[in-house]
Amino acid sequence: MSSALEGKIALVTGGSRGIGAAIAKQLARDGANVAITYTSAKDKADEVVKEMEAIGRRAIAIRADNLAAEAMDLAVNETIAKLGGLDILVNNAGILHTGPIEDFTLEDFEQTIAINVRAPFLACRAAGRQMQAGGRIISIGSNLADRAPRPGLSLYSMSKAALVGMSKALARELGQKGITVNVVQPGSTDTEMNPADGAFADNQRARMALPGRFATPEDVAGLVAWLAGPGAASVTGSVYTIDRGSNA
Ligand code: NAP
Repeated sequence: MSSALEGKIALVTGGSRGIGAAIAKQLARDGANVAITYTSAKDKADEVVKEMEAIGRRAIAIRADNLAAEAMDLAVNETIAKLGGLDILVNNAGILHTGPIEDFTLEDFEQTIAINVRAPFLACRAAGRQMQAGGRIISIGSNLADRAPRPGLSLYSMSKAALVGMSKALARELGQKGITVNVVQPGSTDTEMNPADGAFADNQRARMALPGRFATPEDVAGLVAWLAGPGAASVTGSVYTIDRGSNA
């Protein structure tokens, strides 16, 4: 087991399932103590915490609905109060809302922006106030920020593109404090949000340069853990796409 993150403290939003759960567990395997947030899946969040504790890490699950503006300040404060600091922030929680633009309601728009954009921004604000030199911020975007392969993606693609602009600007700003800020853009990754046997799965597989299967949450977690570790100390303001070549 690697100890690249020994003694570091991480906060992973949306760590109860899917990509976030895999990221939390990978950071823990690499040595970090980890806080995760969830909205409704308390049982799953508790299971992830237990797995991390079983390998000797300190871990907590925080209920935080990113629809609420105060959620990220509360989550960052609780992480610091219970685990003793914040070295790594992973903005992972997100929702996928698709449909023709003619059908979107203002509520659809507000919800996507609140969860996919406002919460990462507010988490970065809290981290900017609290993190020390060596801090790492990684936001989970999407390859759909670069290219929309089918109709219906305006809201989601817009929200994920916003993370790129924010992260590049913050890389320059928080770089003054020795904090790096990067984006990881998964493509089709087998989770409840986008199951490998779902309605559009065959179309997604057909776009891949590496054919055959979706990425796994663990594939994405490996890249995030590298960005969180000492090997990526000089990497900031960068966008890493991990989509089996779908946008190649
Ligand atoms: P997922 O399986 O649906 O899991 C979503 C996670 O976010 C869960 O932990 C969920 O918590 C949490 N969450 C949902 N709504 C929330 C809210 N209002 N406040 C706080 N947390 C909330 O999704 P995933 O596929 O792992 O996606 C993780 C990230 O990767 C997202 O940002 C997504 O956009 C991005 N992504 C995914 C894919 C893909 O193909 N799967 C591709 C590109 C990018 P609960 O369990 O409590 O509901």
